[in-house]
Amino acid sequence: MPLEEYVAKRKFADTPEPAPGKKDAGAGGNYFCVQRHDATRLHYDFRLEIDGVLKSWAVPKGPSLDPGVKHLAAHVEDHPVEYGGFEGNIPAGNYGAGSVMLWDRGTFDLLGDVPAEDQIKRGDLKFRLHGEKLNGEFALVLMKGRGKGNEWLIIKKRDEFAALGWDIESYAHSALSGRTQEEIARNLPVKKSKRKTAGAADRVWASSRPAARGAAKSAKTAAASSSTPAPKKKIRKSIQAA
Ligand code: MN
Repeated sequence: MPLEEYVAKRKFADTPEPAPGKKDAGAGGNYFCVQRHDATRLHYDFRLEIDGVLKSWAVPKGPSLDPGVKHLAAHVEDHPVEYGGFEGNIPAGNYGAGSVMLWDRGTFDLLGDVPAEDQIKRGDLKFRLHGEKLNGEFALVLMKGRGKGNEWLIIKKRDEFAALGWDIESYAHSALSGRTQEEIARNLPVKKSKRKTAGAADRVWASSRPAARGAAKSAKTAAASSSTPAPKKKIRKSIQAA
């Protein structure tokens, strides 16, 4: 049942998006990603791997590291785990047509003792992200009695990763390829300067403006001075770029 809606909306002969396959046993079960999707309207698709699928929310303004910011997150259909590594272009005429950037990825820890499915049912899901751009504790909270019942808010909790005035537009490049949305849309090659390492160094690198992106040295220095090293990512190998 979970992926039927995803499959029904797509023609896999026409779109490069992955069809659901076998569950990737190497994925570790706690992958998260955010895809920046320039469709009819630019939005961010926030996805958490739960019970073998990617539970998904469409966030028009994107997530934020500013705890004072509560952005709308529309709960949408589950996506296959395979989709979590996708970056590329969905051809015109297909569902979700436009360019998709793998904006952030990593792992998450569920917070509390209540299983994820139950947290979703109660409309209050709490987790800690270990991404390249997003880190620390977040909550997704259902706005009960509103609209179609799929309207949630994504909220950053106050912790050492919280950042007042954080501006998502300063981070508008791919965690996978280093490319901008425009470069993905034009099928330009992967940026050579994109570093392959994960964790704190990438997080610092991601905070640089594109012009400074090649400054691996300064990123390394900044990462070395960081008191909170990001955890190792186990899932990276299993995630395929499109
Ligand atoms: Mn989307």
